[in-house]
Amino acid sequence: MEFLHVDQETSQVTEIPNWVGSFLEKTFFGTCLVHETRKNELKNYCIDCDLLACESCLSSNAHCGHKTLQIYRHIHKEVITLSEIQKHIDSSKIQPYICNGQKVLALNPLPHKNGKQQKTNELCKICQRYIAKPNVYDYCSIACKVIAVSQKTSSSDPPFLILKSQRKALSEYEEDEELPKSSSEEGKEDEALESKRRKCKRKGVPCRAPFF
Ligand SMILES: [Zn+2]
Ligand SMILES: [Zn+2]
Ligand SMILES: [Zn+2]
Repeated sequence: MEFLHVDQETSQVTEIPNWVGSFLEKTFFGTCLVHETRKNELKNYCIDCDLLACESCLSSNAHCGHKTLQIYRHIHKEVITLSEIQKHIDSSKIQPYICNGQKVLALNPLPHKNGKQQKTNELCKICQRYIAKPNVYDYCSIACKVIAVSQKTSSSDPPFLILKSQRKALSEYEEDEELPKSSSEEGKEDEALESKRRKCKRKGVPCRAPFF
């Protein structure tokens, strides 16, 4: 239940995982003040600590077992790979961009194209940026979907940011607290996610080809 913030007084569940707002406001690609090594660019975010981290920060034991996200640059904007972010939030309806053959999502809206008038049905529902496939996607960035979720009137209607498996766990919780979590499929998902979490005592980070 770590993503679900339950307000004790109203028993209402916040629809937006509490780290997301902070994550979207961070300024990435600064220099780590702790590490004066070559790879000290702050391009990672630790969900558990709500902190920026460089490669050396991550290979230290400070973030042992923590969930971390790596940020990339695309058209001077911060993006994250779809495969990574969809483990943590429901990223459906957010238009991906293709960056070095990978699908990436923009954290915040990318620069708007000037001049050419777009049809109103081809625009992000929140910031009016051009959307290439308006029949498939509603939002140009994670931030725009967060705004959409914060504006919706019914918690049972889409869009959602909380993962489907977690929403299911939540509805079970609301119906009957005693109800055991029975779905074996859910267990497998959790296990897979767990195994991908940052392993302890990692000696350095394997060299990856530059993303850009
Ligand atoms: Zn560092
Ligand atoms: Zn951490
Ligand atoms: Zn937008």
